[in-house]
Amino acid sequence: MAVKQRPGVLPLKFVVIGTGIAGLSAAISLCKAGHRVIVLEKEASLDHDDSTRGGCRMTPNITSILHKWGLQEKLDQISVRSKGISLMLFDSGEHLGKYRWQDEVMKELGADFAFVRYADLKRLLYETALEQGASFYFSAPVADLDPYAARIVLESGQSIHCDVIVGADGVDGLTRKLMIGSDFEIGRETAKRTTIISKEMILTDPDLAYLYKHEYGSMLVWMGKECFALGFHAVGFLILLTFQEYLIFSGGKGLQKLARLVPSPPTCVTTGNRETLEEWITGRLVIIGNAAHPLPPTSPQSLGLSIEDGAALARQFSRVRYEKQIEDFLSAFEDIRIPRSAAMHAKETGIVQYMSMQPSEEQEFRDQLMRARRDCGTNPYSVSFMSRTNCPEWVDMVEIYGYCVDDAVDDWWAHWGMLNERARGTTVLLGNYSDSEASFARSETHTEYLSM
Ligand SMILES: Cc1cc2nc3c(=O)[nH]c(=O)nc-3n(C[C@H](O)[C@H](O)[C@H](O)COP(=O)(O)OP(=O)(O)OC[C@H]3O[C@@H](n4cnc5c(N)ncnc54)[C@H](O)[C@@H]3O)c2cc1C
Repeated sequence: MAVKQRPGVLPLKFVVIGTGIAGLSAAISLCKAGHRVIVLEKEASLDHDDSTRGGCRMTPNITSILHKWGLQEKLDQISVRSKGISLMLFDSGEHLGKYRWQDEVMKELGADFAFVRYADLKRLLYETALEQGASFYFSAPVADLDPYAARIVLESGQSIHCDVIVGADGVDGLTRKLMIGSDFEIGRETAKRTTIISKEMILTDPDLAYLYKHEYGSMLVWMGKECFALGFHAVGFLILLTFQEYLIFSGGKGLQKLARLVPSPPTCVTTGNRETLEEWITGRLVIIGNAAHPLPPTSPQSLGLSIEDGAALARQFSRVRYEKQIEDFLSAFEDIRIPRSAAMHAKETGIVQYMSMQPSEEQEFRDQLMRARRDCGTNPYSVSFMSRTNCPEWVDMVEIYGYCVDDAVDDWWAHWGMLNERARGTTVLLGNYSDSEASFARSETHTEYLSM
């Protein structure tokens, strides 16, 4: 299907490198914004190896973007909505409490927490990008690129010229190396293991039936000493993640029983624990996703930031009207996304540390506090019991999960974008650009042009 032209928008040619979540999200949203998108993938297919086994936790800032893209119904079919969290200790399996997402908070967030198999999410995004008109080329490894000439050279020797190159080629990709220069690599690499166990298998063991009982939240957290494990339900499956190493055999009774059901060696995901780059653009190249901001491997916001990146880039370029704006818009994208990514990095690192504390007084205090709350029948994460630094996840829910990419980009436009245009003496386009067809139609009729 051809990309729909959007009136008032200069259609550009974007080449996206990589069919990970970041690349697919950018492809969908850039097509929706009226641009031509070519996606290059070095592998032969979307799910070329077992790296697509495992699952993802999607937080409301992610599900709300997918809903805006018109994917709510399809997403509901492949995902399980999360009701809350159950907390246990890794070694003993002791249940420390449960927390249900509060109705008022969920209302405020405007979307759900949901769990999905990674392969299913990728397939959904890929099919959506195809429907929107993106062109995909598999077995097309990019060997070199010139960001200033916006030119890409494939390993085959073929060269492609475009307006903007989007580097979504992951933490070990060419574009990150190009940004870092010769000092590649910085930081320490860490890994998580992820595996899927069928519901049928789990229910054959009465001791594990609790995993499917209603009063338990649909996400299970086993907090350990310098390690932790997470379990969450996908349609017909339970997905198990461990961090640092594959340690569930050494966990408590319940975890060990689960570990025995693991059908094959778990997939290792090395999203890396390397640093967020301070520059995401050079010339006409912009890097997004793990190439720009690798988060700790168990962070849900690794996925979240990647989807947000694609949506933010497209929102920015939904206003492009002449070529000179390209550099400004790329630079604005960087200004908007780097602080968001840095904030998420700090929070997610705090969460990982909180769940995997070393044996210490602080860890004892954490456990005692949760026991006390459990015994009173109250929420283990009560803000009144925890300081912001101790327990960042549940305190800052609205800031993390209620973030709206469109608002962030529109704010930049209102503060700086229009100012730049006026300073240049160019025509300023007012109008509410939205991904939905309804509001798009509205912008066609209500768009107002001001000549400055
Ligand atoms: C099984 C699994 C489960 C996960 N679960 C979660 C989760 O629960 N929460 C979460 O936040 N994150 C999760 N992640 C990680 C998350 O999906 C990634 O952080 C996110 O998708 C962003 O990745 P990316 O698209 O930037 O990079 P990647 O996923 O690494 O994709 C990069 C793509 O670029 C391609 N490529 C690289 N070099 C070239 C080249 N030279 N030419 C052409 N193509 C190239 C690669 O083949 C690859 O397809 C999971 C990942 C996996 C594999």
